[in-house]
Amino acid sequence: HSSRHAHVDLQRARMRLSLQEHLWSFFKERVSIPAEEQAMARRAALDICAEVRVFLHAKLPDMPIREMYLSGSLYDDLQVVTADHAQLMVPMILEKNLWSFIPGEETIMNVPGFWLVRRENIEYFPRGSSYWDRCMVGGYLSPKSILEVFEKLVAGSINWPAIGSVLDYVIHPVVPSETLTLEVQYETDRRLYVDFLPLLVMEDGTSLIAKPHRLAADRHENLWRQSFRVEETAKLRALDQEDGGCRCTCLKVGKAVCKLNPSLTCLTASQLTNTLLLLSEREGDWTQEALADRFLGLLRALVGHLEAGKLPCALSPKVNLFCELTPQEVDELGYTLYCALSEPESLLRT
Ligand code: GDP
Repeated sequence: HSSRHAHVDLQRARMRLSLQEHLWSFFKERVSIPAEEQAMARRAALDICAEVRVFLHAKLPDMPIREMYLSGSLYDDLQVVTADHAQLMVPMILEKNLWSFIPGEETIMNVPGFWLVRRENIEYFPRGSSYWDRCMVGGYLSPKSILEVFEKLVAGSINWPAIGSVLDYVIHPVVPSETLTLEVQYETDRRLYVDFLPLLVMEDGTSLIAKPHRLAADRHENLWRQSFRVEETAKLRALDQEDGGCRCTCLKVGKAVCKLNPSLTCLTASQLTNTLLLLSEREGDWTQEALADRFLGLLRALVGHLEAGKLPCALSPKVNLFCELTPQEVDELGYTLYCALSEPESLLRT
């Protein structure tokens, strides 16, 4: 090492040290949500969930669904910045002999990670034999049509102003919304968005959700989205537990950065989680002291996947988690993140 090299090394070390400090203070000040705020948001979500349950039991006792439940980052301690959203899962029951599941790669659309749900045996069990036949479009169970059924009920026939005044919230359905969302104002300056998410669980445990494909809505209208959320989140957490690692912290910082930077808002928790899972296969040191290096690694990995136009799902590599981004979005994300590699602090100045 010449003294010049030593100098550069020292400077790099300082930069890393300060990035490490910046990341932790960003985490404390912007990313993590006070426990009390989270508790209030959960309370509001639970109140809403209870009302919808009571309403559906009374109004549609024969609708074949299991008990609805709340889920999402608010319940996994992975929500960031503000406690402002949750999903209300609506598990639907399908008759085994009347419906079959076709993986997206075996359809004309050829999209791994999405599925069609086809009505079977219609000649022996005519239309109407299954409750969900009313949501059948062209022989397939249409997630869009299911959302419309719930929308009519939840947005059209529940008296939210009355319930809201009892609960002391201001509640109204968000229109228009690609999924079905309720906005709940539970304090003068606090809002919670609750998404209804109809869900199908196959015999092997595969979960499909009624969340539309982002692109070319017509062509993809009947597609159900496979959900990896439960497994991918559990896996990241388990890895952290094994080695006291900072993967979840890194995820939360990444999520906050994407939430707060307009040019990164289309990146999702799932894309970040899977990038971290893939990175964990190559990178061993996830100690808290390595946060800055791993965060830079996350940015670099994202840039790499964007350049390749492909982010394989860590749990099912044939699924490309970037398949719903337009080429223009890929370019813009790649550009923003590439620039951030040389000045990562710029992402934290929000
Ligand atoms: P966050 O919204 O960025 O905080 O991330 P979450 O981890 O809470 O993910 C929520 C997103 O994942 C929503 O857009 C959901 O539509 C989608 N999602 C996919 N599968 C699931 C699931 O099984 N449960 C929940 N709650 N959300 C899911």
